[in-house]
Amino acid sequence: MPNFETHTSVAAVTSAVGVALGGILFEWDNTASSLAFFAGISGSMVPDLDHDASKPRRLAGFFVGLGCAAMVVGFVSGDGSFLNRPWPREHVLLAAVGSFFLFNTTFLQILKNRTKHRGLFHSLATPFLYAGIWSCFAAGQGGQTLMAVWFLAVIGVFSHLLLDAVAGFTFNPLKVASEDLAASTRLWILTALVNFLAFIRFFAF
Ligand SMILES: [Zn+2]
Repeated sequence: MPNFETHTSVAAVTSAVGVALGGILFEWDNTASSLAFFAGISGSMVPDLDHDASKPRRLAGFFVGLGCAAMVVGFVSGDGSFLNRPWPREHVLLAAVGSFFLFNTTFLQILKNRTKHRGLFHSLATPFLYAGIWSCFAAGQGGQTLMAVWFLAVIGVFSHLLLDAVAGFTFNPLKVASEDLAASTRLWILTALVNFLAFIRFFAF
């Protein structure tokens, strides 16, 4: 099966072509192009989050731990009467290390227990769910950025699924649902909701 490097290289080339076309056809600006490029490359890592020993999962776990630790540090080093803040520096450091390991381990454990390799993460809902999540954040940046990010996110994840399908001579990664129909339905509903949320955010705020 194609490895991490193959997936990211193919996504890098595809995203570069996508961004270039967007620039020519729709005059995407720098913000739109760079965000879209990043959404495309990182999208190629998403399906293999269901793989217990994969690089994308370790990377994602690292960033989830780091992000949560940063939020905890921001909270405990700020002023406030709740929990007697700000904390002394050694305690902040301990809280940072502790929360990194706590959130990192929890995130990895959830993925380990809840996913199966080439299960729902390797299905046609994933590109649209991932694009929807990106769009919720990009919706505040204007229509051009929203469109760029949505398209490249879809293409990034899709490039992974397509590559797996071609390399394995199977349509399995391009399936609409898995044998677990209830879980597949929930995933599609979630996908629709997330995209709808991005749509609402764009038009209402
Ligand atoms: Zn894969």
